[in-house]
Amino acid sequence: MTTPLKRALVTGGSGGIGCAISRRLAADGLHVIIHANSNLATAQALAQRIVAEGGQAQAVAFDVTDASATADALQALLDQGAIQVLVNNAGIHEDAVFPGMQLGQWQRVLDVSLNGFFNVTQPLTLPMIRTRWGRIINITSVAAVMGNRGQVNYSAAKGALHAATKSLALEVASRGITVNAVAPGIIATGMSEGGFSADDIARMVPMKRPGKAEEVADLVGFLASERAAYISGQIISINGGMA
Ligand code: NDP
Repeated sequence: MTTPLKRALVTGGSGGIGCAISRRLAADGLHVIIHANSNLATAQALAQRIVAEGGQAQAVAFDVTDASATADALQALLDQGAIQVLVNNAGIHEDAVFPGMQLGQWQRVLDVSLNGFFNVTQPLTLPMIRTRWGRIINITSVAAVMGNRGQVNYSAAKGALHAATKSLALEVASRGITVNAVAPGIIATGMSEGGFSADDIARMVPMKRPGKAEEVADLVGFLASERAAYISGQIISINGGMA
């Protein structure tokens, strides 16, 4: 009998960084549950590609802001066993300078990043604790470390995740579970496209290039591994030297 692979859930796996993280974790020998919201077909195609390459993957879709839909979807996954690696990567931004920021822009951004973190992580925590091994990795942003004009909502949401990372890490440290945040700078994906010109990047990033989704995925893959067992409660930047 072969031992079943550890299972990993990557929220926002249909997006640029989530896709690279899903591929990295699958290559590292995890069964990857690739999550989408509106783009389930993208997550399904990625799962098929991983399986064709000899890995294990499946796709799932739910809106992380919908607590009850999220709970139902997670329960169906938990019926198959605990999820031991969780990457909270789903996120949106809706930028506006603060005097012009609308309540809806504030609420939607916090709803996905912060309430989404609660809706997904809370139901998975006790089953993870029972296995005495786990990795929770929250994808945040340089905007929460340094601040960014036009992103008061986004940096507030991601900064709250930094604080949540530290508190949850303390709660679960004795159960073999690590909790860390990865704070990327400017990464070349759909989310950053159009947001920064080559001149902006040359001015803002000491390495004068955007990061690659695969570079973020390599860091996440390490944090998800056995080798990172003694790293917890940390905010780890990956930003070409910005901060
Ligand atoms: P993308 O826009 O490519 O992907 C965003 C992902 O989030 C998609 O998979 C999307 O699902 C999912 N998502 C959005 N809203 C919801 C929701 N309500 N419920 C569930 N899932 C949702 O972004 P990136 O890959 O660039 O970013 C991934 C993470 O990295 C984000 O948290 C972002 O804040 C962070 N980040 C990105 C940086 C960058 O420069 N790209 C820099 C710093 C941080 P679907 O498409 O299926 O609807």
